[in-house]
Amino acid sequence: MAARLLLRSAFRAAKTCRAAPVPALTRGMAAGGIPTDEEQATGMERIIMKAMQEGSDPYNMMKPKEYAGSKVDPHLVPSITNKRIVGCVCEEDNTAVVWFWLHQGEAQRCPSCGSHYQLVAHELPH
Ligand SMILES: [Zn+2]
Repeated sequence: MAARLLLRSAFRAAKTCRAAPVPALTRGMAAGGIPTDEEQATGMERIIMKAMQEGSDPYNMMKPKEYAGSKVDPHLVPSITNKRIVGCVCEEDNTAVVWFWLHQGEAQRCPSCGSHYQLVAHELPH
């Protein structure tokens, strides 16, 4: 009964008063635009962004670049030791990987396809 009375009075109130237009929600950033990632990054994220902008590689990710794989422009393989095992997918649709040891020094060829790989010294992040 009480619920019915409340519902009825609410319905009457809704009928009599018109809804005022609700102003659009505004945030503090709306006036100046949306901040970029660089502007709002803090802590470790900010340190990493700055390091990446300066060209250093804070996590030793060494994002792969396009190498020709030729003797002049070999695929660079980072290693913390003087050798590393490398898997070469010789052709794009190959299902088998050719594994071989890559040693420090001059560029070596993949025994199957002939692409050149060269070991480069790399340090672990601190
Ligand atoms: Zn290969």
